[in-house]
Amino acid sequence: MTTTAPKLAKVEGIKDRSQHLLEPIFSELKLDTNHFSEDGVQILKFHGSYQQDNRDERVKGQEKPYSMMLRLRSPGGYIPPQLYLALDNLADQYGNGTLRATTRQAFQLHGVLKKNLKTVIGTIIRHMGSTLGACGDLNRNIMAPPVPYRNRPEYDLARQYANNVADLLTPQTGAYYEIWTDGEKIVSAEEAPEVKAARQRNLHGTNIEGNVEPIYGDHYMPRKFKMAVTVPGDNSVDLFTQDVGLVLITDAKGKAKGFNVYAGGGMGRTHNKGETFARVADPIGYVDAADVYDLVKAIVAVQRDYGDRVNRRHARMKYLIHDWGVAKFTAEVEQYFGKAIKPLKKVAAFEYRDYLGWQEQGDGQWFLGLSVQNGRVKDVPGYQLKAALKEIVSTYQLPILLTGNQDIILYDIAAGDRAAIDAILTRAGVKPIEAIDPLARYSIACPALPTCGLAVTESERAIPGILERIRALLTELELPDEHFVVRMTGCPNGCARPYMAEVGFVGQGPNAYQLWLGGSPNQTRLAQPYLDKLADEQIEATLRPLLVGFKAQRKGSESFGDFCDRVGFEKLRKLQAGESGDKPRYRVGLREDIHSRLKAEAEKRGVSLTDLATEAIAAYLK
Ligand code: SF4
Repeated sequence: MTTTAPKLAKVEGIKDRSQHLLEPIFSELKLDTNHFSEDGVQILKFHGSYQQDNRDERVKGQEKPYSMMLRLRSPGGYIPPQLYLALDNLADQYGNGTLRATTRQAFQLHGVLKKNLKTVIGTIIRHMGSTLGACGDLNRNIMAPPVPYRNRPEYDLARQYANNVADLLTPQTGAYYEIWTDGEKIVSAEEAPEVKAARQRNLHGTNIEGNVEPIYGDHYMPRKFKMAVTVPGDNSVDLFTQDVGLVLITDAKGKAKGFNVYAGGGMGRTHNKGETFARVADPIGYVDAADVYDLVKAIVAVQRDYGDRVNRRHARMKYLIHDWGVAKFTAEVEQYFGKAIKPLKKVAAFEYRDYLGWQEQGDGQWFLGLSVQNGRVKDVPGYQLKAALKEIVSTYQLPILLTGNQDIILYDIAAGDRAAIDAILTRAGVKPIEAIDPLARYSIACPALPTCGLAVTESERAIPGILERIRALLTELELPDEHFVVRMTGCPNGCARPYMAEVGFVGQGPNAYQLWLGGSPNQTRLAQPYLDKLADEQIEATLRPLLVGFKAQRKGSESFGDFCDRVGFEKLRKLQAGESGDKPRYRVGLREDIHSRLKAEAEKRGVSLTDLATEAIAAYLK
């Protein structure tokens, strides 16, 4: 009996035929068209760009108004001043006039026409930026804590390691420069010798000998691959959502000792497909600092060689670890690594940190973290963040660090310049952190409509209004200072990591969301799906009884997400039933005006009409 091998996913053939990411982009760029072919669209992702169209502007029967979203690769979120100013200009000249800080510490430009793509990417490269590998089936932008402490060497080291791992896993093909800079190789910094050596070192099958891509081979990875480096206690990088998370441990002198390693996180899932799920990363163990590049290569090689290349919905490394179990996965990694992975070291518990506001950075200079709603850098009447940033960066030549929460940190600011910078921001209508509602401060949302082709509902455009409504509800319930982590996406792909939120809204259909509850404020626990379909107009009615129960039954300063997790969904559903009204056993007729007053009072108190009527009548009868 002969068995036929399962058919590989279509994209595998496209990668194979691409001559290491050169074609068909190289040829199609020369064509006088406004879009790329299906194969081109797939390869374009590896160059940092998604072909999109503005869904608000589609006209039936006419060609879609195509444009490109362009994403940068900026390890640890570092953007030098000259690159920022170039991006600001490119957004005006060739984009939609805005920049967007992403949830992976990078900038995106939207609305770039195909005919301008070469100019835009070429300009980014010439200003020491890169888009290579920002999207596609390979290592994506690597995250690191976005804080420029000069007296905490572990932070600087974490960013250096993030840079080095990014270099290690950068595609080696010359196609990127051949296409976008006519073959001129322009790099911002030479890669470290130990990175070069680690790339060439063929351990136990980690390398594909003789291939242009010694680590990836012709087919690159089965799917996207996400990594972060952080330090103990700092979860500004959402460590548990990553394919690989590295926690740098230093010695008393601030030198790198080794890394705790986590693997198998991932957010993307598909509605009604139980075989797809969000997953938090598992602890794998500890490696010495000298071995970290070999260990990363070993993990990449396991996913490269055993990841699912047939079913893309099952291709992320989280499914391999889920199917195999951590023990088998670790044993396989050790085969490629050539030695045992040591037990995890005990480190400080993780906290979520966002580094907003003014802080001294440890060398007498200051940094300023700005809260940017949904990461959108724009100029609109009354709010000119884009103009203000341009003025500040060009005047003071300040570097930027982007955060994983879509915010922006300006640093290396002389103490004497603080007042002038504050004045520019105030004039532009940019609020200081003390004036930002913490619900907005800790929230994130993906772009969704109108540009994302996968969006089934609004996200970025909807979340400000929804946060205002939640704040109004909290105020009504006499919880005016309460806040929790709210995240929203326009589809289940989960780009804004909603499955780790205390309250996650995941697009389920037009103006409807799946509601996820029970994530933790420090993003170390997965939320769970509480409601499959929540209509936008039902948000208050659904959250009210849960928040009333939370107010009455929380323990100490317990957060809403921790409360939901502690009491469990059965209890939450009972609270819900109380609000929506268990069927009253007897009906009583009320005059219209009394009913209205009773209803208003019930809403004010956050109790059900039935409960309030029963209480009032009981009091009267007493
Ligand atoms: Fe698009 Fe979905 Fe990602 Fe939002 S979560 S940006 S809708 S793919």
